[in-house]
Order: sequence, then structure tokens, then C-alpha cells
Amino acid sequence: MQQLQDKHLVKPFSYINGSWHSSESSFVVTNPANGEEIVKVSDAGIAETELAVKAAKDALKSWSAKSANERATLLRNWFNLMMQHQDDLGRILTSEQGKPLSEAKGEIAYGAAFIEWFAEEGKRVYGDTIPAPANDKRIVVIKQPVGVVASITPWNFPNAMIARKAAAALAAGCTFVVRPATQTPLSALAMAELAERAGIPAGVFNVVVGTDARGIGEVLTQHPDVAKFTFTGSTGVGKSLIAQCASTVKKVSMELGGNAPFIVFDDADIDAAVQGAMTSKYRNAGQTCVCTNRIFVQQGVLAEFTEKFTAAVADLSIGNGLHDGVNVGPMISATAVADVDKLVRASIAAGATLVLGGEGHAQGNNFYLPTILTNVTNDMPIASNEIFGPVSPIIPFADEDEVLAMANDTEYGLAAYFYTRDIGRVWRVGEGLEFGMVGINEGIISNAAAPFGGVKQSGNGREGSKYGLDDYMEIKYLCMGGIDK
Ligand code: NAP
Repeated sequence: MQQLQDKHLVKPFSYINGSWHSSESSFVVTNPANGEEIVKVSDAGIAETELAVKAAKDALKSWSAKSANERATLLRNWFNLMMQHQDDLGRILTSEQGKPLSEAKGEIAYGAAFIEWFAEEGKRVYGDTIPAPANDKRIVVIKQPVGVVASITPWNFPNAMIARKAAAALAAGCTFVVRPATQTPLSALAMAELAERAGIPAGVFNVVVGTDARGIGEVLTQHPDVAKFTFTGSTGVGKSLIAQCASTVKKVSMELGGNAPFIVFDDADIDAAVQGAMTSKYRNAGQTCVCTNRIFVQQGVLAEFTEKFTAAVADLSIGNGLHDGVNVGPMISATAVADVDKLVRASIAAGATLVLGGEGHAQGNNFYLPTILTNVTNDMPIASNEIFGPVSPIIPFADEDEVLAMANDTEYGLAAYFYTRDIGRVWRVGEGLEFGMVGINEGIISNAAAPFGGVKQSGNGREGSKYGLDDYMEIKYLCMGGIDK
């Protein structure tokens, strides 16, 4: 933190109605790489959350009344400031979350890209005219902002998971309240500081930080003035938040967990597949919702893929994300390490073979070595659960039908990947995978222009792309009569 060029980006308070709001108690934000305290942050609760919802409600009328161009200008200011402060924002992010600085700066650019995208896309909220069944009527469809949007976000992308939602909400004319994860409030608060500098009016973007996830969550999901609730996090928590939203029939969108298959067919470019598996698996120490969770390799290339992949994984450098040359940082907590290790142990006991890793690291309790398991079957714990850590289970398969059935045999449906050079198979498998996003000969699939989201128990709604505004807009139909003379 000493290396920050702009120390005012570190804010230890909630941001409500354009003001920094302190509370009586506070909690400590630590660096997961070494356990050191970064800063104490005011611990907001139910009362502050209610204030934030009121602020968002009060700001809604004037914000939604602005032209799309006016909102776009302010959003673009915000985008520019995020990019100007990319290095500082990246350092704050790495300090509280752990991912290597290059990845953290990549996340800032990725998050900012959604703000830029929706600044433009907000100008293209088109309505419709529909031929009426009677000559004396006209049917016109307009789109209007939903209203106050509330959200809860996770620690694994402390900037981008907020940017993806807030950018679309604000561009649509909605106002916004976010409660970031307890481990990573500083990135959210730095975004608020820059939103203020960008000229985004008081009450339009509010950040409530507090350890009472349940209490704050109940306000955000049940308050009658909140029109829409959007969540990124685990499927289990998402299900209970959906249930809470039922009492006021909120519009809901959910970005939940995943169990991504990564399929390597006999005819694949094996070097490209190894590269794709590396980036889609070991980014953020395996803690992304679109991370490869199960690697299926066809028998004919099993030995070659495993050998090359093992060599690449063995080359990864583990350590504090702020240090040069580090590819894999710490996991978010010792509990997360223990959960992953439990899956590894249970799968070895069930017959999997440990090829690499499978234990902690001298760097500290939050580190887990990049790990590879072979002889895995699709029903082992390491394959049937979302791993959320740096472990690659390799599962052999014989043919296309078998691997499609195994890949789809999960309640999740977020991302999937496959490598082949057969054009017919590209279509068959691309259409056959029951997932919201499919990478074909590609391990990195997310960007602002593309619709991000899942099917099945990975959630609903889409973030980014021309579809991303729909989740923040209502369709209204105007029926004009009395047109005949
Ligand atoms: P999590 O336990 O569901 O937590 C996510 C957020 O919900 C945190 O802010 C957490 O607060 C809060 N929370 C937890 N219990 C709550 C409750 N009862 N009421 C209100 N809020 C509550 O998930 P996580 O372990 O942090 O994140 C990893 C999960 O997120 C994975 O399953 C991953 O796949 C998913 N994810 C999905 C996407 C996507 O786009 N689909 C993207 C990223 C992550 P605290 O911080 O205080 O616990």
C-alpha cells in the first residue's frame, strides 16, 4: 500500500448518498498472502443499508430523467479514471484478494471495459412498434429503468463483479447499492471514490461494507423500495437470496457457481489445449466461476496431454501476488485451502492418482500447490464439486457421446471448453453442451461485448453485451386508441 500513487483511493468507510459514512465498530481487512492487516474498515449494518436504499430511491428520479448521453458522459469519466488509476487499483486488489498484480490490473481493465461498453450501449435502448389488430389503435413498446438495484458480490473479482452490474444498471437509468464481500471491500470503496470524482451524483452509486452479511442481505432482498436484486456468489447462498426476494417479487439475476468441463479430443492441437487449460484453470489460483473444473482427455492423446500439461503446471511460480514473476498467489483463506485439500484427499482415497502438488506451501497457510490428479472418474468428489482452487482432475474418455454425457452430468451450467479441429464436431459439441458459455479452442471467453451467464443452477440473466441492459429494464407497452376520425 505504501507504493500507491494516490493514497486517497483507500477508503475505510461505507459510501452512502455521496458521503463517507463511519460506524461505531470496525473490522480488519488483511492481505491473504501474509495475514498482515491492511486497514480497519467501518462495519456498517442494517441501519446504514436502509440509508443507502433511501439514498438510491431519492436519487432515482433525477438520474433516470437524464438523457442517455448525459449518463454516458459520466460513465465514460468513471471508465477513464479507473484506467488512469489502473496500477493503484490493481495494487489495492492484489493486497486484499491475493491474485498476482498483472492479473489484478487485468481485472481493472476488464471491469472498466464494462463501464465503457454500457456507457455506449445505454444510447441504444430501442423500443418497438407492433402492428395493432384494429385500425383505430397503435401499439408502442418502450423500455424504462427498473428502479433501485441492490447487489451482493463475492471476493474473487472485487472490482469486476461490481463493475459488470453497476455499469449496466447506471446506463439503464437505475440507481445502485452494493454490498461487497467482507474480505475485499477496498476495491469497491476505491470504485466509489472514483465514481464521485467522475461526477456521478450522490445516491446513484452506494457501497455498504459490513460483516453482517445476513442482516444486510435481508434489507437488500426484502426492502420494498428495491426493484431488482442481482447476486454473484455460490449457488447455495444464491438460492436462499432468491427465496428472500420472493416476498416483494423482485426482478432477480444470479451469477452462481460452475463446474466447467474442458474437453480435449484426439484431433486437437495439444499445445493450444495445454495453453488453454493453463489459463482457464490456474488464473486466480483456480478461484473463478468459469475455471476449468474437470479435464476430459480422449484416450489417444491422454499421455501426450498429461505430460505436457504437467510440465507447464510444474513451471508455475507461487508466492505473494505483489512480487515479480509470481503466477499463482494465495487462496482467499486457510478454510478455502482445507476445503480443496479435503476434495483431493477424498478423491485419492477413491482411486485417483496424485501426479503433482496435493499439499500446502512453505509460503503460508493460505497457499496450496498447483495440483494434478489422474485416473479420476466423473463421480469422484473432485469432479462432482466446484473445486474453487488450483487442482486439475484429468478424466479419460473414449468417444464424443460418452464425454458429452459426462460433461453435462452436473447441476451447473456456466462455462465449458473443448478443443478439436473437426468442424462437424465443433457444431455438435458446441450445441450439445448444456452451458451458457462455450470456449471452442479458446480458454479465455469473457469480455464486455459477450453475454456472460449460466443455465441450470449456475443462474439466470446475462452480464455484458447488447443483452446485458435487459436485466435492468422493464418493457412497457403503450396502447394508443381513438386514432380513427
Ligand atoms: P458466497 O459464499 O456465496 O458469498 C458471496 C457473497 O455473498 C459475499 O459477499 C458473502 O458475504 C455474501 N453472503 C454469504 N452468505 C450470505 C447471506 N446469507 N446473505 C447475504 N449475503 C451473503 O460465495 P463465495 O464463496 O464468496 O464466492 C465464490 C462463489 O461465487 C463460487 O461458487 C463462484 O463460482 C461464484 N461466482 C460466480 C460468478 C459468476 O459470474 N457466475 C462469478 C464469481 C464467483 P461474506 O463475504 O461476508 O461472506
